Amino acid sequence: MKIITNLKYTLWSKSEHLRINFADQAFQAPYRTNEKVGQLQKMMYHNFSDEDVETVLQNPEELRRLSKEKLRKEKTRGVRIDRELECALKERNGDGVHPMHRKPNEDDMEKKELDNKNEVTKKYEVVSDGLIQLNNVCFRLKCASLLKTPQGPREEPHYVTSGIKGSICVSNSRYSMIGHVGKTLGFKLVKEAKLWNILWTDSLPGVELYKSMKRFQQINHYPGMMEICRKDLLSRNLNRMLKLFPHEYKIFPKTWIFPADYGDALNYSLNNIKNKARTFIIKPDSGAMGRGIWLTNDLKSINPSERMICQTYINKPLLIDGYKFDLRVYTLITSVDPLRIFVYNEGLARFATSKYVEPTSENSSDLFMHLTNYSVNKRNSQYDLCDNDDCGSKRKFSAINNWLRRQNYEVDKFWGNIDDIIIKTVLSAWPMLKHNYHACFPAHDKIQACFEILGFDILVDSKMKPYVLEVNHSPSYHTHELVDRQVKKALIRDTLVMVSTPLADKKQILREDRKRIKQRLLKLKQSDNGTTVLQRTTTTRADINNASASVAEGDSPPPLEDQPDTAGLSALSQQIAWEESHLGDFRRVMPSHDSDRLNYYCQFFALQNQASIYSETAASKKREEVSKKLRLEIEEKKQRQMEVISGQRRRMKLEERRRKRPALPRAIAEHHRLTRFRAKENWTPGFISEAEERLRRTWMQMRGEMLRNNKIVQMMTHTESKIYLN
Ligand code: ADP
Repeated sequence: MKIITNLKYTLWSKSEHLRINFADQAFQAPYRTNEKVGQLQKMMYHNFSDEDVETVLQNPEELRRLSKEKLRKEKTRGVRIDRELECALKERNGDGVHPMHRKPNEDDMEKKELDNKNEVTKKYEVVSDGLIQLNNVCFRLKCASLLKTPQGPREEPHYVTSGIKGSICVSNSRYSMIGHVGKTLGFKLVKEAKLWNILWTDSLPGVELYKSMKRFQQINHYPGMMEICRKDLLSRNLNRMLKLFPHEYKIFPKTWIFPADYGDALNYSLNNIKNKARTFIIKPDSGAMGRGIWLTNDLKSINPSERMICQTYINKPLLIDGYKFDLRVYTLITSVDPLRIFVYNEGLARFATSKYVEPTSENSSDLFMHLTNYSVNKRNSQYDLCDNDDCGSKRKFSAINNWLRRQNYEVDKFWGNIDDIIIKTVLSAWPMLKHNYHACFPAHDKIQACFEILGFDILVDSKMKPYVLEVNHSPSYHTHELVDRQVKKALIRDTLVMVSTPLADKKQILREDRKRIKQRLLKLKQSDNGTTVLQRTTTTRADINNASASVAEGDSPPPLEDQPDTAGLSALSQQIAWEESHLGDFRRVMPSHDSDRLNYYCQFFALQNQASIYSETAASKKREEVSKKLRLEIEEKKQRQMEVISGQRRRMKLEERRRKRPALPRAIAEHHRLTRFRAKENWTPGFISEAEERLRRTWMQMRGEMLRNNKIVQMMTHTESKIYLN
């Protein structure tokens, strides 16, 4: 077995094809799986070195030891790889200057274009052909290897941030990349128990955590964001808005929540010929990653009592190279009152891996054709790992925009429509978000207590109309591919820069709180008993928390005059000014730049406020009824079970008692037996009245007539004779 060395490669495979990615180029070759190849394939996939592969092929026992060793090495290597990437980005964007602080000029634009063109040739050097032998078949491959970066001391990329040495806690996040980016920006990584400035967590925190947050702390989730991040809640909110604004809210496919809306969906599907031929997509009500999704055009075959989401299937999506795709649009919310939404200019288009054909009974189970989730399609051998702009199963928005321009589509208008559906989706949950935010953070006056990156999944139909499919509160930050790293790292960096306003100065806020509490305590001392009670109630929970925090920090109380002069500009306007000057690659979509557009969105704010969000819609009433019915049914069933169980117990008890009962004395038992025997002997038939007899005869007559009229006798004789003949 000869394997080419000194090459950076990954291997991606599935039963029929062997796919090897040598740095930037992909090769595909037919092969037949055998055990050795399977093992080799796994090792190559996990980037084992060639020596390791050869060692394991000679001695399979070695795999365990090598895996452990590799894991250890990878942990230390992780940081280095990130630095390499950072340098590459730095190189591309211009030396040492963060792109968002650099004004593009013509030279830069030209350079960028040239860079884009030559990106592959610049980064990779084509080396000689190589041979790879697998399963006794020899393949000839033309390979590329990464150009060696010039040696010398590497500079850490320098970003102009808020100048605060803030701290970030990422221990509740599985993505190491967030910690790395935070560190490069100057954040200190701390544990959850410390007084962090920013807490980055993958899961949604409980109310207790929100309530315990100090005035300088921020968290990456809003309380109540589930209203748009669970499929069923999103559908409920969008359906409610659709009722209020039937023309403006056609931003998602027609959706029903089962079991409550089962009847409606069935009616819709049987309504007319067009709907009869319609395909529906069925999803679990709170699922993700394409799990449990299937297509059907027969809603009658669905169990009406199961909880799920039913949607009309968009059967004419926009296709690129014949493949269906969806867009993962990253959206940052930095404030809910006032509502401030930013959309990231770069994002990911995720492609299906089988060419698209409209659903038929034959292909509707082909998930590689109809679903665009990475988690589904990565399992297909056709998954394209190519890193070039115009190929690959994951592409950047910049590549999609270029494609759209080539096809003469209006790109700006298209993104304007996407911004519109994002704003409308957030607006559908806005009253809840605002209410929850104020309930959880009454004391946060300096900075926003929360920010959130939402991952909007958007599908575009062949008429270029975008539809929102779902919203993710914790979009994946895995960086399996180069495009992932390019997009997600920049996204995290720009987000952290944008949310770390200079106002979030921990020490300053602690000082202020201490001063406030000190003043209150002094007043308390001076005042008489009556006023004491009043003043004590005005000391908020946050004050106490912050005071104890400052004690825990061990800061010495600074002079009171040490306050920065923020007079004139309120905290909010300072935050806005900061955000506007640190947009990075974000664009602000709410509040809109265009005043007409802003007026247009005002109607949704106003009407939502009038119509109580908690008011009962017909669907919610129906849902309530169904759940009540279900609850009653379950209770009834339980009751019956209990009855059966208690009946059985009673019977068992009786039997037990009978068994335990002492036997009757023989004389008495004999007496009982004789009485029973005599009673039987003396039995005479009861008296039958004449009327009873008449009634009996009439019934017999009727029976006879019925038999005759229905020709049952003939039928019976006929079958009898048939059987006889056979
Ligand atoms: P999940 O949360 O499991 O990823 P999604 O709602 O995002 O569920 O759906 C998964 C995939 O199914 C989407 O990426 C999209 O390709 C496809 N899909 C979902 N809904 C529709 C629809 N109404 N019409 C066409 N395709 C859809």
